[in-house]
Amino acid sequence: MKILKFGGTSVGSPERMKKLLDIIRPEEKQIVVLSAVSGTTNNLVEISQAYLDGDKKKAKELTKALHDKYVVFVEELFSTDAGKANGRDLIDYHFNLISSFANELFTPIEEKVILAQGELISTTLYHFYLTEIGVKSVLLPALDFMKIDEDNEPMVEHIGTHLQPLLEKNGDNTLFITQGYICRNSFGEIDNLRRGGSDYTASLLGAAIKADEVQIWTDIDGMHNNDPRIVKGTKPIAQLSFDEAAELAYFGAKILHPQSVFPAQKYKIPVRLLNTMEPHAAGTLITNESEKGQIKSIAAKDGITAIKIQSTRMLLAYGFLRRVFEVFERYKTPIDMITTSEVAVSLTIDETANLPDIIKELNDFGSVELDNDQTIICVVGDFGPEKHGFAARVLEAVKHIPLRMISYGGSNYNISLLVSTSDKTEALRSLHSRLF
Ligand code: ADP
Ligand code: ASP
Ligand code: MG
Repeated sequence: MKILKFGGTSVGSPERMKKLLDIIRPEEKQIVVLSAVSGTTNNLVEISQAYLDGDKKKAKELTKALHDKYVVFVEELFSTDAGKANGRDLIDYHFNLISSFANELFTPIEEKVILAQGELISTTLYHFYLTEIGVKSVLLPALDFMKIDEDNEPMVEHIGTHLQPLLEKNGDNTLFITQGYICRNSFGEIDNLRRGGSDYTASLLGAAIKADEVQIWTDIDGMHNNDPRIVKGTKPIAQLSFDEAAELAYFGAKILHPQSVFPAQKYKIPVRLLNTMEPHAAGTLITNESEKGQIKSIAAKDGITAIKIQSTRMLLAYGFLRRVFEVFERYKTPIDMITTSEVAVSLTIDETANLPDIIKELNDFGSVELDNDQTIICVVGDFGPEKHGFAARVLEAVKHIPLRMISYGGSNYNISLLVSTSDKTEALRSLHSRLF
C-alpha cells in the first residue's frame, strides 16, 4: 500500500482536481491524503479571527466570499445536474456550520472546528467527483483514527488500530481518500497537526500501516538546494537521508511540515517529494541512505529569539546547564541552538509565549540579554569531522555578515548560523553562489 498526499495547489482548482487521475491509479492499493483547496485554510483562519474578535459582520462577509468561491468550484468540477446538486448541498452544509458559530460562544475549540472544514470539503468533493465519473473510492473520516495525546503528540499505534479495520471492512476497494491535517485531541475534540500538517498525516499513516512508500505531491519538483522563494537558480536534490530532510524541514524548508519526516524515519518508509505539475520529474527520494562528500542544501527559519545568560557561577560548576534547561522545560519551550563558553551560554527559541516568565527565572542565574528578529540559517551536508574545509567554505561565504551564533559538531550533517533577519536574504544568496 502507498500513501499519496496532494497539497493545496494540487487540488487548488477543479481543473487540477480532475488532473489528479493522471497520477492516481485507481486500481492500485493506496490512501490518498488531500489538503484543503489552496487559500482555504488561510481564509478559515481569518474567519475564526473575526469571530474571536467578536466582529460577526466581518466573519459573515468573509464566510460569504469563501462560499461564493466554492459555488463556482462545484459548478466547474461536476458535469451532471445530480453531481452539481450534491456538491452544492455539501458546501451549503459546511458553510451553514461555519455561519452557525455567530450564535455561540467562540473559543479556540470552535476555531479548530472551523479550521477543519477545508479538508472535509476538499476530500468529499473529490470523492463525489470520482463517483460522478464512475471511479470507485472510499472516503475515510480522518477524525475516526487520527489522534494526538495530551502533549499534542500523534498516537501512531492508535492510528493503526483504528485505521486497519476500516481498510479491512472495505477490502474489495483499492482507492481510499482521507483528510490531511485534522485529528482529534485527548479530549476527543476536533484538532489539527498545525499548519502544513497534511504532510505529517501522510507520514503518520505510512508509519501506522507500514506502507511501502509515502509520496508528497506538491507544486515543485522536490526539495531544492535553497529556498526558491528567495534565491534564484535553485535545483532539486535527488536524494536525502531522513536526518538531512528532517533538519531542512525543521529549519524552514516549507515543502515539508517540520515534524513530518520522523514517523516515516522510525519505520524506514521511503518518502518521495514529487511535482503534480511535472509528474515525470524525478523529485527527491528520502531514505536512510546519505550521499557523502557534498554540501546539499540551505534552509532558513525566521522568528528566532536568542538568549544569552552570563554568570561567573558557571565557572568550574556542574549542574548549571541542567538548571538553565529545566527553566525551559517547565515552560514547555523547545530550544533550537545552543553555544557555550566557560562563563556564558547562548541559546535560541522560537516560542516566546512564556518568555517573560522564563527571563524572570533566568535572572536568578546571572545577567540575561535578548536579541529578537533573528534567523537560523541551516546548511545541510557532509559535515563529519574528517571533512576538512566544508565548514570553512560556509564561513567564508558569510564573512561580510555579522554572526550571532555558530553551531557545528552537534551532528555530522549540519552547520547552523544565527544572523539578524535583516541579513537573511544576503546570507542565503551568498551561501548559494559560493557553495553550489
Ligand atoms: P503544499 O501546498 O503542496 O503542501 P507548500 O506550499 O506547503 O505546498 O510547499 C511547497 C513550497 O515550498 C514550494 O512552492 C516552495 O516555494 C516552498 N519551499 C521552500 N523551501 C523549499 C525548498 N528548499 N525546496 C522546495 N520548495 C521549497
Ligand atoms: N490546509 C492546511 C494548511 O493550509 C494543511 C496543509 O495544507 O497541509 O496548513
Ligand atoms: Mg505544505
